[in-house]
Amino acid sequence: MITHHEVNILVNYTAREGIALSFYLNTDGTERNKGVWNIETKDLIKNAHKELERLTINRRYTEIADTSLRRIQNFISTENFAPKYKSIAIFSNAAENFYQIYYLPVPVKSNLVMDTNFYLRPLLALLEEHCRIGLVLVDSRHARLFEMYMGEIMEHHDFATKTRTHKKPLLETFMKREKRLMQRKEEDTRFHLSSTAEALGIHFNLRHFDKLVIGAHKPLGDHLARLLNRRLHDNLIGIVEAEIHQKENDVLARAIRVEREYELDEERKLLRRIAGEIEKDGYAVKGIRSVLEAAHDYNLQTLAVAQDFAEPGLVCSQCGMPYSEGNTCEGCGEPLVEVSDMIYDLVEEAARQGAAVRHIQGGSLIASLGNVAAIIKFKKGELVRIEEAAETEA
Ligand SMILES: [Zn+2]
Repeated sequence: MITHHEVNILVNYTAREGIALSFYLNTDGTERNKGVWNIETKDLIKNAHKELERLTINRRYTEIADTSLRRIQNFISTENFAPKYKSIAIFSNAAENFYQIYYLPVPVKSNLVMDTNFYLRPLLALLEEHCRIGLVLVDSRHARLFEMYMGEIMEHHDFATKTRTHKKPLLETFMKREKRLMQRKEEDTRFHLSSTAEALGIHFNLRHFDKLVIGAHKPLGDHLARLLNRRLHDNLIGIVEAEIHQKENDVLARAIRVEREYELDEERKLLRRIAGEIEKDGYAVKGIRSVLEAAHDYNLQTLAVAQDFAEPGLVCSQCGMPYSEGNTCEGCGEPLVEVSDMIYDLVEEAARQGAAVRHIQGGSLIASLGNVAAIIKFKKGELVRIEEAAETEA
């Protein structure tokens, strides 16, 4: 699982020595196979070698980059990819002994980039699209915290919350003592729940999760929910019945179901918003042509695209901008080349423009929007119209 901490390391990485190499490979088994991945890797590496020859850099660095490239090629030719992963990302700099592999559940465009920093846009867009879920299991005395991200799970074993220990009973009448024991039990549980809520706040601030699910027997879960700080409470997406000693796999299945429901709900909200904007001729467009036009105008705010939607098209050989027709790029004038599916390029371009990207998994609403739609930042000519209106008023 890629942790928030690891993402930070990648983002802040600058090669002091050698070359930072970022490699993405689309391993989506539904349309491709291992032979294709191998050939694609070889081609990307061949181009990288050509680029290295062109660069006038220290010969030692070229040799080091060669080592990184060979390692990637070896890895791809021997790796057996689990079908649940749809792409793989490798970040490497042999000069600084940096080598990190990530398996990703969403397909990205295959690419190999050499620079002093890692090329992270596709990875960050993908990470941003998925919530990191915290699942806390709690009973009246214990609590466990799991972090779940893109189908993987790990337990935070340091999530030890302290509960108040029983004091020695004083000399009391039997009745009085019974009453006190009841009271103390209640106090202990409350204390345990508040310290659990507090510990959750700390893990939330450390970005161990963005959304929280509580697993407990009723009514403990609801009690814990009321004790959460406001920011954490706003990010609570479900309370489910659960045992404290559940197996990790059962916990994972549980959390995935809650996450799925939450995401479906968010998807529906986004698509309804897009449909509503389109209806009133507002800030949204639908269909590949209009969405491409918005991309050319740097006008994408949120891109919604059906999970399995593919569309052949053209891509600028220089800047990567996708097109449905034409010979040269509007932006940089370079020739366009044909690609079998330009949706990967569109997704990457959206990420480049800082737009959020949502792959829509379920439902018919996205189909009615032409499988691709977007919230846009401005409508063409609207500022001119506003200025004209102001001038007429004045
Ligand atoms: Zn271009």
